[in-house]
Amino acid sequence: MNFYSLNKKSPNVNFKEATINGQAPDKGLYFPEIIPQVKNELISNIENISNEEIAFEVIQPYVGDSIVTNDLLNIVKETVNFSIPLIQVTNDIFSLELYHGPTLAFKDIGARFMSRCLGHFVKGSDKKVTVLVATSGDTGGAVANGFYNVPGVDVVILYPSGKVSSVQEKQLTTLGNNIHALEVQGNFDDCQQMVKAAFLDEELNKKLFLTSANSINVARWLPQQFYYFFAYKQWLKKDKPPVICVPSGNFGNICAGLLANASGLPVQHFIAATNANDVVPQYFETQNYQPKKAVSTISNAMDVGDPSNFVRIMEIFQQQFSSLTAKVSSCSVTDAVTKQTLLDVYQQHNYLCDPHGAVAYRALEDYLQTNPNNKGIFLETAHPVKFYDVVEPVIGQTVEIPESIRAELLKEKKSTVINAGASELKSFLMQL
Ligand SMILES: *Cc1c(COP(=O)(O)O)cnc(C)c1O
Repeated sequence: MNFYSLNKKSPNVNFKEATINGQAPDKGLYFPEIIPQVKNELISNIENISNEEIAFEVIQPYVGDSIVTNDLLNIVKETVNFSIPLIQVTNDIFSLELYHGPTLAFKDIGARFMSRCLGHFVKGSDKKVTVLVATSGDTGGAVANGFYNVPGVDVVILYPSGKVSSVQEKQLTTLGNNIHALEVQGNFDDCQQMVKAAFLDEELNKKLFLTSANSINVARWLPQQFYYFFAYKQWLKKDKPPVICVPSGNFGNICAGLLANASGLPVQHFIAATNANDVVPQYFETQNYQPKKAVSTISNAMDVGDPSNFVRIMEIFQQQFSSLTAKVSSCSVTDAVTKQTLLDVYQQHNYLCDPHGAVAYRALEDYLQTNPNNKGIFLETAHPVKFYDVVEPVIGQTVEIPESIRAELLKEKKSTVINAGASELKSFLMQL
């Protein structure tokens, strides 16, 4: 299988090259030449198929001969080796908990798969790869954890000092070894600018082989299909597929769900739920795609003003607005309503959402009210403890920290403080 650039001005490449490049040279996103169809048996017999096998079946056509069967099997095994339960919350609403991975966020799945693929591709090569990533919180932890101790790969993570939660900061800064945390005296935009400048710097690119681990990389995007299949495996009423609601920021997660559906996974309808950053809900109303500057909200992993994966969604629907709206709807939820929902769900159903999950819960419940006789799933993308500063005041209680990360929180933070600016990052990288 080859991938083409959505800007159509770069050569088609295989999975290995697409993973290493991240973005095509013409700055377009890579997209598979064909959307493979899963075997009927994978759907009709899914309860009897292991998660590893499902994941392998789904991803293999995309990977093609870039990774041989046995190695790919090992990679998917390690990627999905934690539970992804579907929990009933109300009569009609279920939560797909994607937060039981090592950093308690759904990004673990994409990051674990990508890091292992990249590690596989650099094995035996004498050239070291340096992964550069700017994070506003969740991405950095998942990437750091995924790449920790992968031979041949150095990871440099830039995060805005004082602007990530203490849990998130520990996940970035306590690993050490091949993971370097740079605490930037600036905001997230500064971090992103610095990373962009580094990619354009000739001298740096001569010295290091730089690549990014952001969410547009096919090796992070495609494995996100896995858990839509796992959700269906746990869905009891197979005659009526679920409505699925996805809290969306860069729209990579929902785009993977749509791809799974286009490959044969039964899904009744998709809802893309956003916070106040409502570029896509607006597009659904006006057919006019108008990027905006991101505004800050309590579901900050979705504070995106120009979602990069939206072009991929349009490609899945072959640029047809009517096909898109037949399968997908979109809605925006304010912070006030998000908090109220979080509290209501906790008090009425004894289920604790994180702010991102609460956005999706609200959008799903509203949809089911106007579209009765359906049942639905919302994706819980992070453990509520990652956003305890929002969650605890709302419910008036502390959130218990899961056993799995307690030890990590006691470890010492190790970061290098640097000023914002391209030259600061460059001097750090030159001495790596
Ligand atoms: C990244 C993130 C999202 C948004 O996912 P996209 O793929 O960017 O749409 C939602 N919730 C949480 C907790 C996240 O970390």
